Amino acid sequence: MVTTHNLGFPRIGAKRELKFALETYWKGQSTRDELKATGKALRARHWEHQAKLDFAPVGDFAFYDQVLDMSFTLGNLPERVRGFHGDRLDNYFRVARGRSAHGAQEHSACCGGVAAGEMTKWFDTNYHYIVPEFDASTNFSLDPSRLIEQLAEARVLGVKARPVIIGPVTYLWLGKAKDDSDRLALLPRLLPVYAALLDYFTAQGVEWVQIDEPALVTELEPAWREAFVTAYDALSARRVRVLLATYFGPLKDNLQLACQLPVDGLHIDAVNARDEVALVAAQLPDSTVLSVGAINGRNIWKTDLNAALEWLEPLYRSLGDRLWIAPSCSLLHTPVDLDSEQKLDAEIKSWLAFALQKLDELSVLAGALNNGRASVADALEANAAAIENRRASPRVHNPAVKAAIARIDAALGKRASAYPLRAEKQAAILNLPPFPTTTIGSFPQTGEIRHARSQFKAGALDHTGYKAAMEREITRAVKEQEALGLDVLVHGEAERNDMVEYFGEQLDGYAFSQFGWVQSYGSRCVKPPILFGDISRPKAITVEWTQYAQSQTTRPMKGMLTGPVTILNWSFVRDDQPRSVSCYQLALAIREEVLDLEKAGVRVIQIDEAALREGLPLRKSHWNEYLQWAVESFRITANGVKDETQIHTHMCYSEFNDIIASIADMDADVITIETSRSDMELLDAFDHFNYPNEIGPGVYDIHSPNIPGEDHIVQLMKKAAERIPAERLWVNPDCGLKTRAWEEVIPALRNMVAAAKTLRQGA
Ligand code: GLN
Ligand code: ZN
Repeated sequence: MVTTHNLGFPRIGAKRELKFALETYWKGQSTRDELKATGKALRARHWEHQAKLDFAPVGDFAFYDQVLDMSFTLGNLPERVRGFHGDRLDNYFRVARGRSAHGAQEHSACCGGVAAGEMTKWFDTNYHYIVPEFDASTNFSLDPSRLIEQLAEARVLGVKARPVIIGPVTYLWLGKAKDDSDRLALLPRLLPVYAALLDYFTAQGVEWVQIDEPALVTELEPAWREAFVTAYDALSARRVRVLLATYFGPLKDNLQLACQLPVDGLHIDAVNARDEVALVAAQLPDSTVLSVGAINGRNIWKTDLNAALEWLEPLYRSLGDRLWIAPSCSLLHTPVDLDSEQKLDAEIKSWLAFALQKLDELSVLAGALNNGRASVADALEANAAAIENRRASPRVHNPAVKAAIARIDAALGKRASAYPLRAEKQAAILNLPPFPTTTIGSFPQTGEIRHARSQFKAGALDHTGYKAAMEREITRAVKEQEALGLDVLVHGEAERNDMVEYFGEQLDGYAFSQFGWVQSYGSRCVKPPILFGDISRPKAITVEWTQYAQSQTTRPMKGMLTGPVTILNWSFVRDDQPRSVSCYQLALAIREEVLDLEKAGVRVIQIDEAALREGLPLRKSHWNEYLQWAVESFRITANGVKDETQIHTHMCYSEFNDIIASIADMDADVITIETSRSDMELLDAFDHFNYPNEIGPGVYDIHSPNIPGEDHIVQLMKKAAERIPAERLWVNPDCGLKTRAWEEVIPALRNMVAAAKTLRQGA
């Protein structure tokens, strides 16, 4: 019999129960016991959903983050939280977010306030984890309580439990040594703790443990590869059986290494690395289980089950009981239940599978392998019909869009003249002072804005009423900016709920779920729009709002758009064509918007590419290919304008060292970036690379309620001027201001404008 299992289940809850329970607790409006009870109930429900599987994961549930859980299990707490006298869970939240619940703060006086742990992206997903902190003196000590407790719960419920932990090498790989010491040197101290944990599992009657080592799908230095050998040799004497799990891509040059490790089973990502299945099957020792991730754990599309069986059946014939099947990775990255969707178009819905539906698919595959396809004929037939319907649907395919894609050539993404000439023409029209000031686009999303939007959505406010409400907000934003004396104004983005969803909603080829939430970090979830078909723009999206805003002022009004790469990277994207093609389609659609804005007299247009860097592939050797089409997509969007039109772009980071040439290649006239928190240190990239165009390094940390002082801003800009010629510098905040309040924004921008004036005197 083939064994079915799952690497992890989304823990936030189908109705985001965990999110609400956490936030209520943090506000001090519920007790710790109530929060714990919600966690327990969610775990029980999620195991029930996985009851049909041969193994269900235990320990995949986390109140905040699975990596932080592992840090606590390994006793690796940052020094700054060690003296905490309160509850363990409260200390956990202190590391996660700098503070625990409202009422649990009584210890902040005796044990000191803390800085939150650093957060970073989990491989190439949009999930963020808390980075483990190390230094040369880090010691580990086992705290198995969380796992023991959850195993006990599972036992009571009769769950076929398999604990899941992050492996020792990946754990070190994910962390950071604060003193720049070699974190691999900690491995000998770490391994005994893992050994003791595995022995705990044995004592609990556990047969199999899942050890996640996704670092194996990345490019590893020899020392890291060596660490895998050391680690698994050391753990091989433990009695519990080990399933080593890899996911998020092919093993490539680590394939042989992975196959040789002394473990009892190896899980590979057969969605992203189908061609490695046969290689791995041939190389694994005869007694080792091969687990194939045959269902995409990261998207929302139905699996073509018949196609999967075409390769699974022969594999099963040769491996027999040694074959296990599962989703490719933890289902953490998918929404929970498609059945909750009441408003989704029925045809599009028939093409989709969320976590629960993916587990059903797994059962069908297992049924077909164990008892023949005939035993699940109905399910296979329904699946085939849905796959065929999607493949052939006129809603997916738009010949005009495909024809436009075929016509793309290098000229499309090229400005008429080079930057120096454009800059002259733009200066003549815009007539801006040195150190021009601007903002990144959004102004505070006030209660009135949110109220008008929800009334409009609910039908209580008609279109005219809604438009009037938004225009009032735009007028207010324009007046405030004029009063502040900003040079290039924005309309404030009042009408936008979200910078990607807003554009998706007005493009053909997009669908939206009601409950398609995925965890981004902690209690934060995102609901990515679904890009299912060829993309086109039925009509202008932002032109009216921008024109209205321009009519309120004689200063230049910047048109604000989200760029194609960012729209792509923050969506669930169709899997029936390369991502590059979907990106080019978005590029052509947003290009039309750019040209319409230009036609309407807008002289400055900003195209945000907040997520360009996020899309970088896991392996550096694949970066070039991505950067090539991502940059070309931006160029197609932006570069059809006249020399006189000034193109801005914005990115929410400034780690440009390794991609600066590509950023320059985008050829935007002005780029605004996030730099204030790093004290301009991130401008290092510009030391060795002569960035040719204009730059606005952020001088106002919009993530903090603090108001930057004028002197501070002047200092920051002077630092920037050491690296970038002053005549090419702009003065602006790090990012949009929508999460801030007007009371904070006004004094901050007042200081910013004052700083620019001071700088001009020195210029
Ligand atoms: N224009 C957007 C805003 O100001 C940019 C947001 C972002 O970069 N994340 O909100
Ligand atoms: Zn930003």
